Amino acid sequence: MQIPAPPQTQTPAAPQAPAAPAHTLRIVVLNPAHGGADTGARGPSGAAEKDLVLEFAQIVGDALREQGFQVVITRRGDTDPSFDDRATIANAQSDAIFISLHIGSTGPAGTVRTYTYLFPSVAGPNTTAGGQTQGVNAMAVQPAAPPPGFLPWREAQQPYAQQSRNLGDLLQVELAQKFKGSPEISSSLPVYELRSVATPAVAVEISNIAAGSQQLEAMAAGLADGIARAVAAYKTIYPAGGK
Ligand SMILES: [Zn+2]
Repeated sequence: MQIPAPPQTQTPAAPQAPAAPAHTLRIVVLNPAHGGADTGARGPSGAAEKDLVLEFAQIVGDALREQGFQVVITRRGDTDPSFDDRATIANAQSDAIFISLHIGSTGPAGTVRTYTYLFPSVAGPNTTAGGQTQGVNAMAVQPAAPPPGFLPWREAQQPYAQQSRNLGDLLQVELAQKFKGSPEISSSLPVYELRSVATPAVAVEISNIAAGSQQLEAMAAGLADGIARAVAAYKTIYPAGGK
């Protein structure tokens, strides 16, 4: 009886099409939240979240550039682009991620918390404490993959949810090392500014506005270093995040 050769020896190697350029993380979109008439949180001494996050974005941007990333900042001055405008800036980039910067108004001073967008219809391990009703949970079936090109703008973040969590967790691990008392992993919340962003996207909430400008500014270097390290680490697992 003749034993057929294993199939792999019968099949000549398919000629390789020229490789598509590999997706690699190149661009970090930094979003200093608020701006213009929207001051964000205000500290007792008058410090405004909108001004502090703009400063942080410059310092974090410098650290990212040193790691070889291109940096796009969604606002340069004291303006307040809409969530959609900011998402549009992010979505125009290829091979990018989106990091929104906030100063906290309720969180513990001196810590940093990272959030990814929680879609109401997707029940994950992070959704159980959200006070969702049984009705919502009952509808939380795994959604079918939408046809390409038909994803509603408001759900643009959905295909990136897992990648965003990966990015958020890497950020949180780095930042927890620098800022004691910070959580060990990221959390998911309905952070609406992230939902229309079609790249991995996270919001980073820094300390508490009540800590005052001086204490907050003292965190900038550590924050920038932590974010740059986490983004460099995330680059090694990025591929599918690219467009
Ligand atoms: Zn804010």
